[in-house]
Amino acid sequence: MRAAVLYAFGEPLVIEELDLDPPKAGEVMIRMAASGVCRSDWHGVRGVHRHETPIVLGHEGSAIVEEVGEGVEGLAPGDHVALSWLPYCGSCARCAAGHPARCGQLEAFDQGYLADGTTRFSKGDLRIKHNVPSSFAERSVVPATTAIKVDPGIPLDQVALLGCAVMTGVGAVLNTARVRPGESVVVIGCGGVGQSVIQGARIAGAAPIVAVDLVPSKLELAKALGATATVLGGEGAEGRILDAVGGGANFAFEALGRVETIELATRATGPGGTAVLVGMAPPEARVPLDALTMVYQERTVTGSWYGSTVPPRDFRMLAGLVASGDLRLEPLIGRTMTLDAINEALALFEAGQELRTVIVYG
Ligand SMILES: [Zn+2]
Ligand SMILES: [Zn+2]
Repeated sequence: MRAAVLYAFGEPLVIEELDLDPPKAGEVMIRMAASGVCRSDWHGVRGVHRHETPIVLGHEGSAIVEEVGEGVEGLAPGDHVALSWLPYCGSCARCAAGHPARCGQLEAFDQGYLADGTTRFSKGDLRIKHNVPSSFAERSVVPATTAIKVDPGIPLDQVALLGCAVMTGVGAVLNTARVRPGESVVVIGCGGVGQSVIQGARIAGAAPIVAVDLVPSKLELAKALGATATVLGGEGAEGRILDAVGGGANFAFEALGRVETIELATRATGPGGTAVLVGMAPPEARVPLDALTMVYQERTVTGSWYGSTVPPRDFRMLAGLVASGDLRLEPLIGRTMTLDAINEALALFEAGQELRTVIVYG
């Protein structure tokens, strides 16, 4: 089976044949159907966020189950699954409190292993690490809790997007922020995550919904997906945002992970407002804060990790919204490519003009 392997930061991924061991207890073997290419993959390749290498990246996938390991219930060969990139133990204090996104037992996964501290990928004697689900591979083995069965009627290239951008964006609105009908929302950055925040805000009944980006075509799409007003970023954007939202938003979502736009999000909120940080900033990033205003206007800044997801609940909820037509995924797909073009797909992030590129497996 073929996979794209990262050996060294800043180098192209190497597409090559790997061996794949069968699933152990609590795991499933999957045949990949599609994988979105996410900004975090690009950061992983560049070494902005450092993984252990060699590793198979890719964390926004859909697949078909091929084989289930011992003790796996509720999944069978042939099932269509959305892939979550969040392994969780289900039994630590944070999982038990209903917050698997904060699971405290992820050390093995953080180091590129599966739960038992070993890998299923290898090339000869060389063990290759996982970035669950490692969707830049034709086949993979993942924890069964990260493969969520979905209606086979939904196209699998669309199901892939649920795995990162859509869960992150919609979850930030519905789970983290718990936006209520009539509350105002600003969304800074209208890539795959930002467009999903906008759709989540529409589903929540937010108004107005103000989309901010530097690329006019992304603002056009934002309007089609639920934004009630758009603001072109850059010089003077803060004033235009405050005008559009009527003086300060209940919620300002930042989906880029950049210091300037995170600061802008904190300034776009009004009294009692909350800036929700969704984008992944570089580890060294530090953001200046208007500390006094935070106090006397009772403003909040919060992070949102993977949309504060509870995967078995939320992936079904998202699939239901897709089936009912409330959540539109097809417009998020910019272009489709094969695994052989993965380096080209990653390079598109440098240009910043593209929507989601999706790798489709034959
Ligand atoms: Zn991602
Ligand atoms: Zn846990």
